[in-house]
Amino acid sequence: MNILTVSPFAEKKIKQGKQLLLAEDFPNIAENNQLVYLYSQSKEFLGTGYLSSQNKGIGWFLSPKKQQLTVTYFQGLFEKAKARRQSYYANDLTTAFRLFNQDGDDFGGLTIDLYGDYALFSWYNVFIYSLKDIIVEAFQTVFPEVLGGYEKIRFKGLDFESDHLYGQEAADTFTILENGVTYEVFLNDGLMTGIFLDQHEVRDGLVNGLALGKSVLNMFSYTAAFSVAAAMGGAVETTSVDLAKRSRELSTAHFEANGFSMENHRLVVMDVFDYFKYAKKKGLFYDLIVIDPPSFARNKKRTFSANKDYHKLIAQSLDILSEYGTIIASTNAANMTVQQFKKQLRKGLGDVSADFVNLQQLPVDFAVNPNDPTSNYLKVYTIKVNK
Ligand code: SAH
Repeated sequence: MNILTVSPFAEKKIKQGKQLLLAEDFPNIAENNQLVYLYSQSKEFLGTGYLSSQNKGIGWFLSPKKQQLTVTYFQGLFEKAKARRQSYYANDLTTAFRLFNQDGDDFGGLTIDLYGDYALFSWYNVFIYSLKDIIVEAFQTVFPEVLGGYEKIRFKGLDFESDHLYGQEAADTFTILENGVTYEVFLNDGLMTGIFLDQHEVRDGLVNGLALGKSVLNMFSYTAAFSVAAAMGGAVETTSVDLAKRSRELSTAHFEANGFSMENHRLVVMDVFDYFKYAKKKGLFYDLIVIDPPSFARNKKRTFSANKDYHKLIAQSLDILSEYGTIIASTNAANMTVQQFKKQLRKGLGDVSADFVNLQQLPVDFAVNPNDPTSNYLKVYTIKVNK
């Protein structure tokens, strides 16, 4: 077994329970794509981990034991993961949720989502990808009811990013249920699937009261999932704004899957900053504005970084928010803390008084590592504005 001696600083982080190994804590590391036993400089055994560079980090701590990565090992992880999601299995109104989530389920670099009868595996680095045969074997014994699997490649170096992985093939598009709402999804068309499952509790809030009787503006709407949830929850009208042309047909599919005509549901293909200006000029007002930008985006006109620019979205929302309106402000920027996010929101609100009604983070199926706040990347504030 390869042995890796870690710095006192990295040792401290491991002992705090952090599992993601960051490049800055492991200077001069040459090894890649291998299992390692981690030792402190005083030769204390710290545990088993693996090295494999990915978008974020250079590897993962796995276990305080000397661990071999066998089918049995993954079966154990999957059984535990399945057991902690029993409430989702017991709910007939939801057929799509996350089955396995990285370090929250004690194996970073891997996520597995359930979409009805199919599973979607996302591989975040070369090392985990090299284990896929034993992982799929273990998965099939613990989840025999899943008919087939698909995979997404979330690291650089392969010439494809999506493929069928095992078992039966799903239809090109099919529907799943979430909180009783139907969404149309696709598992083998790029990295996206038509829905971001991590937002299901926020959508649940819209279905169950928050949107009732309201006019709703959904900014960065992608497939308009928030708008459809709001419509199901009794919103009188919705407007969904996204720059991507394809969002239009995908959004229509979600609405139609629930039997809505598009009469009260507008889909606008436009830069959100242009839409803010347009709506202000036209004197449009909305009771509820949902804002869910990417952490970072660059288009022909401008770049947007959630860390620096989020406050602008709030400030411009105020111009077109009805009296006593509500803003749902979401970010998935892992490098922004809750405090930093709140500061952006306060900056955007300026002198306007507002109640921060609640903060939602990842739901329980997106299990987080409680010792690493960066694993709980989602932050969603519901803000009642008193203007
Ligand atoms: N809120 C969506 C997910 C948003 S993903 C949901 O719940 O499903 C981010 C989206 O922002 C993408 O669809 C992208 O096309 C869009 N986008 C990025 N920059 C934009 C901009 N400046 N104006 C409008 N849409 C933008």
